[in-house]
Amino acid sequence: MRASATRRPARLTDSAVGSVVPIARPLFGDEEAAAVARVLASGWVSQGPEVMAFEREFAATTGAAHACAVSSCTAALHMALAALEIGAGDEVITVSHSFIATANAVRYVGARPVFVDVDPVNGNILPDQIERALSTRTKALLVVHQLGMPCDLPAILAIAGKHKLPVIEDAACAIGSEIRIGDQWQMIGRPHGLVACFSFHPRKVVTTGDGGMLTTADTALDARFRLLRQHGMNVSDRARHTAATVTTEQYEILGYNYRLTDVQAAIGRVQLQRLSTMIQERRKQAELYDDLLALIPGIGLPKEPDWARSNWQTYSVRLPDNVDQSAFMQAMLDRGVSTRRGVMCTHREPAYRDGDWRCAGPAGQAAETAAAASAALANGEMLQDRGVVLPLFPGLSESEQRSIVGLVRDCIDVAR
Ligand SMILES: *Cc1c(COP(=O)(O)O)cnc(C)c1O
Repeated sequence: MRASATRRPARLTDSAVGSVVPIARPLFGDEEAAAVARVLASGWVSQGPEVMAFEREFAATTGAAHACAVSSCTAALHMALAALEIGAGDEVITVSHSFIATANAVRYVGARPVFVDVDPVNGNILPDQIERALSTRTKALLVVHQLGMPCDLPAILAIAGKHKLPVIEDAACAIGSEIRIGDQWQMIGRPHGLVACFSFHPRKVVTTGDGGMLTTADTALDARFRLLRQHGMNVSDRARHTAATVTTEQYEILGYNYRLTDVQAAIGRVQLQRLSTMIQERRKQAELYDDLLALIPGIGLPKEPDWARSNWQTYSVRLPDNVDQSAFMQAMLDRGVSTRRGVMCTHREPAYRDGDWRCAGPAGQAAETAAAASAALANGEMLQDRGVVLPLFPGLSESEQRSIVGLVRDCIDVAR
């Protein structure tokens, strides 16, 4: 460590967002507050007219045929697997290198996640690893658009088609992200797979506090989502409320309470109107980081393939390999800038015991224990250990970004 590290570091104090620059910050204005007030005044606060309008507007924005609102993306993933009747004894091919909710959803239905590795730049599933992981038990592919960067859907859909497997997209981070299909740019959620699942958690680009959405082109599947999200009930509250004759509901399948509230939906409708300007700003911020950070030797940057446009929900870099990740993050925090480690690897968590999952590696490695998985899932582990998320959110100024990059440079030296 250099001597300068022992001095009290200068903090990034010109921040407009408090004494520490956060890594993410939702953008709310008077319009969201007015929307909430409108819902409260209406007296209908859960899964009513605002949810219906939010679903319509979400479908129109993404180009999806159907959109079904739920309480979170985790609920959406669970419902997607449940609707496809995936369960005990089945396997779902996915990535370990993702937020833990991805693999948890597979376990909620009693199935086993089968992990394959990701590319070392963007952390997205490697399509050429998928076939090695197939078994007679494989029932679906659950692929992630990690941090908002689209994964290689055309390659994935080709493999899925060959093996007649449904593709579920974990699009938690990917609202507004686009992919080029042929010569056309299309938003994630259109959908390309059978189902796409979105999140409205505050770390995501569009937030309702918490919330989620499933999009699909399959009308029967959409109808099933509507049963599953509300206890399997075949007549909605709203239909009963507006019926002129007494109407009694039935509970057709085992369902859940995964409703979104009208308060959340009303916020979401305003957020959707902000989507394109928020993404424009995020793209400019990502470009500035690209330009400034490229001058730091040894640092690895995310990179859009020519067929993908990220919404830049999260900007994650790879530290040079001789830099200590936690020392770097502490040095940044000491100087007033929050960071986060790279995306986690689910198979390294205590909640994932040996045998709860298996993995398949590039050289045909098969493993069911974390110790044995390191070779098979090496890129994901590298991204977790060397990845650092930098602040990027609406309102982060160019001068703040320049200061942050200066501190990244300093803190890399401090943490060597
Ligand atoms: C955020 C996230 C989720 C979970 O979303 P919630 O709405 O919080 O349930 C799932 N998968 C990925 C990849 C995520 O980033």
